[in-house]
Amino acid sequence: MSSPLPAFAAVVVAAGSGSRAGGPKQWRRLGTKPVLRWSVEALLAAGAGEVVVVVPAGAGDEAATALAGLSGWRAVAGGASRAVSVQNGLAALGGPGDRPVLVHDAARPLLSQAVIARCLRGLEDADGALPALPVADSLRRAEGGVGAGAVDRDGLWRAQTPQAFRLQTLTEAYRAWPAEEPATDEATVVQHAGGRVRLVDGDPRLMKLTWPEDFAMAEALIPRQIRTGSGFDVHRWGPGAAVWLCGVEIPHDQTLVGHSDADAGLHALTDAILGAMGDGDIGDHFPPTDPQWKGASSDRFLIHAVERLHARGGRLVNVDVTLICERPKVKPHRQAMRERLAELLALPLDAVSVKATTTEGLGFTGRGEGLAAQAVATIELPAS
Ligand code: MG
Repeated sequence: MSSPLPAFAAVVVAAGSGSRAGGPKQWRRLGTKPVLRWSVEALLAAGAGEVVVVVPAGAGDEAATALAGLSGWRAVAGGASRAVSVQNGLAALGGPGDRPVLVHDAARPLLSQAVIARCLRGLEDADGALPALPVADSLRRAEGGVGAGAVDRDGLWRAQTPQAFRLQTLTEAYRAWPAEEPATDEATVVQHAGGRVRLVDGDPRLMKLTWPEDFAMAEALIPRQIRTGSGFDVHRWGPGAAVWLCGVEIPHDQTLVGHSDADAGLHALTDAILGAMGDGDIGDHFPPTDPQWKGASSDRFLIHAVERLHARGGRLVNVDVTLICERPKVKPHRQAMRERLAELLALPLDAVSVKATTTEGLGFTGRGEGLAAQAVATIELPAS
């Protein structure tokens, strides 16, 4: 067991204009939340006692929206350069001079607890610590698109953030830094002041959102979990001339009786999707006592469940429905049912299955008193 992490504070730099990303990226949504929120949540989860977020002047409202519901942070206005922005953040932090401070770029949202811990541990026997990755690609120098020779990558590392320092070390190093010089990162500033900065293992997922296309790559890197839900529904047979099953109307000498259109296939499937999300059941969302659902097409129940899934940044993977009855014969309608479900769910046909079985004349389905449906849905959700 390693010892607990020291108490620390953090400065998150979110003052950029995002000129290369096509606009401010700190407020843009990545997965289920704004880019800025990813790192602030990670730092708070790691136990940061205080997080100062440096935002463009006048952007306090955007920060409050992006971080709504979180406590332990406050916003200060950035300056004309990164160096000024970081110094504004440090000035807003209190505490003793030996207080460890992580300085992090909001543009690196996928910050793991392991990286935070490595940075703080790296600071124990150095004046600073930063995560870094070895350079794997060969490096070329080019002029006007023409290669002008290889660059030896030996000893070269890709520096990431957060970078860890003691409050006083970094504050004094910035005081000694020539004001007209742009500072790439804090490690440069502390080394310039004579400090020793240790490299710790970085994380490829801690990529910096720089270009517009980086968002798609970061989306693909968000940890996701696969979940499964099941649903079951029964409706009784009554007088009628047609029945709705899996969104398809089938001529029949009876109909299923219910408050809505009694499409047991769609009801079971809706419950399966809600179940996979841990989001209650169809009766919670559409109470049978509510007159507005009388005779309603069950399409809307299913679409509602899928919309709730999308609102959580999730997506459907596949669905499988089994209809249990003696009559009507389902097989002639199976393909139409699959196509209708694929359309409603925006899934490829091979991710939609409809099956049917009888119960060999046994039980209420065998006696023709009612029809039962069961469904399974697999979904993918962001892990956090
Ligand atoms: Mg039902």
